[in-house]
Amino acid sequence: MKILVLNCGSSSIKFQLIETDIELIESNTDRCIAKGSVERIGTDEATLKVTVPPNPTISVTEEILDHQAALTRAIATLKDCHAVADITQIQAVGHRVVHGGEHFSASVVIDDKVEEEIQNCVELAPLHNPHNLRGYFVARKVMPQVPQVAVFDTAFHQTMPGHAFMYGLPYSYYRRYHIRRYGFHGTSHRYVAFRYRKIFDKKREEANLITAHLGNGCSMTAIEKGRSIDTSMGFTPQEGLLMGTRCGDIDPAALFYIMSKDELTLHDMSTLLNKFCGLYGISGESNDMRELITASAKGDEQAKLAIEVFCYRIKKYIGAYSASLGHVDGLVFTGGIGENSPAIRALACEGLGEMGIQIDPDRNASMVGKEGEISTDASRIRVMVIPTNEELLIARDTFRAVRGIPNPH
Ligand code: ADP
Repeated sequence: MKILVLNCGSSSIKFQLIETDIELIESNTDRCIAKGSVERIGTDEATLKVTVPPNPTISVTEEILDHQAALTRAIATLKDCHAVADITQIQAVGHRVVHGGEHFSASVVIDDKVEEEIQNCVELAPLHNPHNLRGYFVARKVMPQVPQVAVFDTAFHQTMPGHAFMYGLPYSYYRRYHIRRYGFHGTSHRYVAFRYRKIFDKKREEANLITAHLGNGCSMTAIEKGRSIDTSMGFTPQEGLLMGTRCGDIDPAALFYIMSKDELTLHDMSTLLNKFCGLYGISGESNDMRELITASAKGDEQAKLAIEVFCYRIKKYIGAYSASLGHVDGLVFTGGIGENSPAIRALACEGLGEMGIQIDPDRNASMVGKEGEISTDASRIRVMVIPTNEELLIARDTFRAVRGIPNPH
């Protein structure tokens, strides 16, 4: 089945065309046929990029005034590039939807009821859900016969028990405003956990895992027998690890203090927390880990400190989630930093030998952008690098939801 995976933002659409079915999933041979993006939608300088491997990327800049025009143009280009003979070959659309609240614990075919529930979650993710919904409306117009499936970032974490998702606020805030830990990056954590079990031929019940998704946004998850039992992001993606431009865990009273000292509004504070903290905030120069590693090697003390805070926070969560799980079989690194940076992985795992984590320096150094083990043979916990593939999991979920096949993971 050819599935179009859409990730719709305020002025952009990212897409992949993926061929998948039961046999291809089993043999891990379902693949991306084409991928691309339309950026700066709503301007006369929108950029459409489409790659149909092994051909070079096509890039066009032109006027594209709305998301419907963007999707129509993207599909026409897929046809021009022979990725599809015509639009009817696209048999389903899978949408990345950031927030499914407490309502969705799995991917679903979108109907009126589901649309309404996603609408109800807009308040929880005002920067994302409206655009994800817009992707659905537009795809429904362009391909009215085709089933559409929502795959939620939060769904995987709905298995968290109350003691992990509840904040220490008056209970009425949970009841009235649904304030609790939801967690994000669920599709990524679920994908790498599934791959880990495939690689080691383990059943869900046979593997307790800690997964670390380290990209611009960063989160870690404790996965007990295939179920998320705790995750570092919270009510929003602000909580937990240090990130590119977000500070992660912080004493909330420090924020009131800054607001009163600098006379900041709520809006100012929100901008500060989203755009000027984290690696960028501490280093004072960049949110890009590659640049910070280079700067630190040249003696830049703030870049060095930013890296140390980043790695120490990961180490603390490894400790916390080891306690949550009781027994850990594997630790998985993924995301742009997790997949590509031996130095960060080494620093985050430094001194954890007593806990059963021993990194093999040669294996670690050679594992860049590919799947494989980086722990020593003697390490009790297998430490793995597994490149994430959220689009592939969205396509697989879409296929299963459309066919009514229960999800095995
Ligand atoms: P996003 O969360 O936006 O999808 P990515 O998963 O692509 O982000 O991760 C982006 C981060 O990965 C950036 O901080 C980038 O510097 C980092 N990164 C990419 N390659 C390397 C590398 N070779 N070494 C260290 N960091 C890297």
